[in-house]
Amino acid sequence: MPIDQDTYIVVGSGVFGSSTALELIRAGHKVIVLDRSEDGYCAPDGASNDLNKIVRADYSDPHYRNLAKMAISYWRRSDLISQYYHEVGVLFHTGTSVDQTIAYEVSSSDQFKGCFPVSTRNRLGRLNEDITSGRNKAYFNPRGGWAEAGKATNAVLDEAKRLGAQVYGNAHVNKLLFQDRDDSKRVTGVRCADGRTFHIGGKGQTILCVGAWSEGLLRAIFEEQNLNSQISLPTWSSAQVVITIQLNEEQQKIYRDTPVVLCFENGNYCFEPDSNGLMKIAIHSGGYRFPLPSTNTNTPLTFPTFADSIAEQADRTAKITIQGAPSSVVKEARCPTDQAKQILQNLHYVYPELANAPIVYDRICFYSESLDENWIIDHAPGVKGLVVASGDSGHAFKVSETLGKIKSEY
Ligand SMILES: Cc1cc2nc3c(=O)[nH]c(=O)nc-3n(C[C@H](O)[C@H](O)[C@H](O)COP(=O)(O)OP(=O)(O)OC[C@H]3O[C@@H](n4cnc5c(N)ncnc54)[C@H](O)[C@@H]3O)c2cc1C
Repeated sequence: MPIDQDTYIVVGSGVFGSSTALELIRAGHKVIVLDRSEDGYCAPDGASNDLNKIVRADYSDPHYRNLAKMAISYWRRSDLISQYYHEVGVLFHTGTSVDQTIAYEVSSSDQFKGCFPVSTRNRLGRLNEDITSGRNKAYFNPRGGWAEAGKATNAVLDEAKRLGAQVYGNAHVNKLLFQDRDDSKRVTGVRCADGRTFHIGGKGQTILCVGAWSEGLLRAIFEEQNLNSQISLPTWSSAQVVITIQLNEEQQKIYRDTPVVLCFENGNYCFEPDSNGLMKIAIHSGGYRFPLPSTNTNTPLTFPTFADSIAEQADRTAKITIQGAPSSVVKEARCPTDQAKQILQNLHYVYPELANAPIVYDRICFYSESLDENWIIDHAPGVKGLVVASGDSGHAFKVSETLGKIKSEY
């Protein structure tokens, strides 16, 4: 006999939504998952739908550190996702000008080269000299690496489906259904742009896991319900640029099993090539305020471009009031040229001979930012039956399956 007949609605099937759905269904509830993508899996422009993400437990905050350590244990042993985890280690370095003391420092040439496979040791760039001369500090954590993000996210949702979760695509939620009670509003379900409605059952709740779309969706919902005076929006999106280069067969062999290299001064990071020889390089930064994530239900979901946002900028710049929000605005159609140049220069610093490899594509990937970079997993104030799980601030993928376990406590 099922534990109860509570029906939960999870909106969004990125890593937040998929892991929540899986945990809820494992707990014996009924679960409906809705995504604006065609097939109900994380959309192509969703942050979780990516080649790879860094998995690391190197946080100064002990809570995130413990959570990430727990997550790494899952990555290692989970039947579902361990096949997508590559524990190649993570090499952190400071950049050239930082005077900082680091525990477990990698400082000698032997130590530094030992972090890399033999095939790359004589191909390292100026990073090598800067570290061994002491101009740059570094440490290596072998307990970490990267995950095949899109595949792992889909595997979690597949498992939820196998256990009975109902997953609907083309389900672009644009309204919540409310029941007015004496003292509060209670969410009873959702409405999609195409008119379909979905309802919670029993003590079920609606959980918004819409990543960088949270700001727009919450704004629309609250404005419609005249709740804006009670609620200040907790998250906003920032557009981050990612570049992917293609390595030839020989280069793939040479750079296979290299660690993730992350500069915590300028946020630059790169991965080993994946099984198709694709190498992702990016900068973890404040990003760009525009473009906003696309909410057009009539166009196919592709990566947005900076050109998409020119009208938005004209229309909305005046409305940005969140203090601390990044505010850079660019008008280039694709990756801003200064960013592309910077990313490749940074790559040259680590692996000089790869800096001229062909760029296969660049994409915009959205962070859902919060003011203090803490994730937001909470009830929406003034509304019953609504949980918002967002504010990943560019670092929540790594906890994958573990995330659902936290959210199931709400
Ligand atoms: C460039 C980049 C690099 C990153 N690197 C790392 C890293 O190395 N390590 C790490 O741990 N994390 C990293 N992150 C962060 C990580 O990607 C996110 O924390 C995580 O993917 C967020 O998942 P999510 O489920 O909240 O959002 P998403 O994955 O974006 O999923 C949101 C889903 O909601 C759907 N949706 C939106 N609106 C609606 C609607 N109205 N109705 C129905 N469905 C809707 C979307 O279609 C989408 O499928 C990175 C992020 C970016 C952008």
